[in-house]
Order: sequence, then C-alpha cells, then structure tokens
Amino acid sequence: TTTTAFLGLGAMGFPMAGHLARAAQASGGRALVWNRSPEKAQAHAERYGSQAVDLAGCAAADVLLTCLPTSAQVDEVIGALEAQLRPGTLWVDCTSGHPDAAGAQRERLFARGVTFLDAPVSGGTGGAEAGTLTVMLGGEAAEVEQARPHLAFAGKAVHVGGPGTGFAVKAINNVLLAVNLWAAGEGLAALARSGVNVRAALEVINASSGRSNASENLIGQRVVSREFPVTFALGLLAKDAGIALDVVESVRGSAPLLAQTLGLYRAAAQIIGAGEDHTAALRLIEQMNGQEIA
Ligand code: NDP
Repeated sequence: TTTTAFLGLGAMGFPMAGHLARAAQASGGRALVWNRSPEKAQAHAERYGSQAVDLAGCAAADVLLTCLPTSAQVDEVIGALEAQLRPGTLWVDCTSGHPDAAGAQRERLFARGVTFLDAPVSGGTGGAEAGTLTVMLGGEAAEVEQARPHLAFAGKAVHVGGPGTGFAVKAINNVLLAVNLWAAGEGLAALARSGVNVRAALEVINASSGRSNASENLIGQRVVSREFPVTFALGLLAKDAGIALDVVESVRGSAPLLAQTLGLYRAAAQIIGAGEDHTAALRLIEQMNGQEIA
C-alpha cells in the first residue's frame, strides 16, 4: 500500500488532498496532510479522515504532493525536508511554478534519490472539489507513469514534455485566461455604456464566436453578480502572467499582447488588491470607463 503526503492545504490543496484521502480509504493506503498553519490540517483530518502530521512526518510518504503559491515556497519546504527524505520517494509539485525553478528542484532532489515532477493543475476550486482537474505533467515518461495512479483529483492528466514544461504550459494557459477575461471586460464595459443589457450581451456572445470561459462562466457568476468570490487570487494570476512572459523571453519570443496583459494585471493587483479574486481585475476596467459591468 502507498502512503501519500499532501503539503499545502489552501483553496486548491484542501479539496485535492480530500481525493487522496478517499483513494487511500478505498485502497487501504494512508493519506498524510501538512499545512503551515496546522489548524487546516486538523480540519482536513476531521473532514476527510486524512492524518495530520508535522513537516518531518511527511518524509514517511512514498509520494509527496505540494500545492503552494509559488516555486519560492516549494524551495523553502524542500529545504526544510530534504535531509529526511528517503531514496525512491516521488515528489509531485502541483504548484503553478516556474519552469526555471523546476530544473534546480529536480537536481536538488535527485541528489537524495527523490524524483521531482512538475504537475500544475487547472480547473479552479470547483474542479478540485469535483476531482476533475486537468494536470499538466513535465518529466520523463517513466516518472509520469509512476505519478499517474496518485492523481486522484484529476479528470485529465497529460504528459506535455520534459522537466519544467508542465509549469510552462500552465503559465501560458493562465495568461490566456487573463487575456480572455480582460478583453471580455473591455468589450462589455463599452456595451454597458451604450445601454446594452450585459446579461443579454453575454447570452449572445456565449452562443457566438467570441465566447470563452470568461464570458461563459466567470463574468456572469462573479462580475455581473457583483459577488467576486475569492477562489483564485488576482495576485496569483498576475504571478502566472509573469511566468508566461519569462517563458516567452527564454526563447526570445515576440508576444506583445501577452506583455500588455501582464502590465494590466500587475496594475490591477496593485490598485484593486492582490488578495481579491482574479475577476476583480475588471473593477479596474470599470474605473477606467466609469461604468459597472452589470
Ligand atoms: P492559497 O493562497 O489558497 O493557499 C496557499 C497555501 O500555501 C496555503 O496552504 C498556505 O499555508 C501555503 N503557504 C503559503 N506560504 C507558505 C510557506 N512559506 N511555507 C509553507 N506553506 C505556505 O492558494 P491556492 O490554493 O489558490 O493556490 C495554490 C497554487 O495553485 C498556486 O500556485 C496557484 O497559482 C495554483 N492554482 C490555483 C487555482 C485556484 O483556482 N485557486 C487554480 C489552479 C492553480 P497557510 O494556510 O499557512 O497560509
């Protein structure tokens, strides 16, 4: 039987680790959980029957999974844990991390006989709860096959290439989310100013060629509703856009639209607040236009 340890029980990690706990109960394995603020691990154990442990306790696991804000926090946790890690351990990092960090993390853990895979996810907190996340895996084929049985939170898991490519694909996916969200916001603000009902405009766009996840789900549920529920922080999306531009720069690519988008989200994170929901970026468009998107 397998022991997993999930480190980082945030908006994503908490429900993701819940699926590992259910899988462990079904297979007779163990699911350990750790969080920097230990009360979340305690709450997880009560809710899902996982086992809350201290950081050192995670070294007992065969498979470690992390879901932390950025690669910098993953580095901290690797540093605190590496002396205790056992050879043969698999480390699956579900953070939306940085491709450059993946190489160094891999080497550092390889020296301990530990395999590191980048395995960021998409699908939001709803996908994490439903167990339908898309996972993008970067690493060697054999390592990816080793990880697959432990992705109990996934609806789809795709091996996208070598180390770091999972992080790269995730960053580009998210900057596309940022582009679509921003562009739809600008267009709808103009329509609202011209007196068009925003919900009627969305109904048309969502049955037409301009639709996106932003128009189909995010704007109606979060912006027009004025709810802006914080499930994915604006600061994290700005961080992802920054990684995407680093990916562009690493190949000396030309991506002026993506660069513009990064600038806009950095500004929105400053002005609206990094801790607000990512859809609250459209509050900046509302200020720019003197017009609510509602
Ligand atoms: P949250 O802010 O909700 O959770 C962050 C987690 O990281 C918490 O468990 C927090 O612990 C922990 N943490 C923060 N700093 C440290 C540190 N220095 N050492 C140890 N633990 C730390 O983030 P999300 O769950 O939203 O996001 C996690 C990752 O997943 C990010 O990379 C994000 O971009 C990505 N992601 C998010 C999605 C979403 O919809 N939210 C969707 C897909 C990917 P504590 O409880 O103690 O603060």
